Amino acid sequence: MTYIRTARQREQSALNLPKDVSGKKNPRWKGGKYFNKRFNCWFIWKPDHPFAGDGKGKYVRQSRLIAEKYFKRYLLPQEEVHHINEDRSDDRPENLYVFPSKKEHTIYHNLKNKDKLVSNLLKPFQKK
Ligand SMILES: [Zn+2]
Repeated sequence: MTYIRTARQREQSALNLPKDVSGKKNPRWKGGKYFNKRFNCWFIWKPDHPFAGDGKGKYVRQSRLIAEKYFKRYLLPQEEVHHINEDRSDDRPENLYVFPSKKEHTIYHNLKNKDKLVSNLLKPFQKK
């Protein structure tokens, strides 16, 4: 028994791949952006993003993409974006604060007397 697949077999399995129903061929396609009511936040279709979900879930939270734009790098999977006014549908850069991990993010949420955060997205662009 050989594990070397013939060109024809490869072609066959490519044809058997599940159809991509998330892209532009989907009649429900709305331009690559949707509002997720459960998370109360926007998701953007980013099939080339290294941390996008798989398959039909190749979406990235808009808040993360905005943070990445300002940081000029990809956010690490463990980094979490906090919404300063607690409204996760409000992705203005001045409303976003990136925590290095879930731990720091949770600690902040559990503080009794929170100091209001100032966005850490805009910092490098502000003059002292
Ligand atoms: Zn938060």
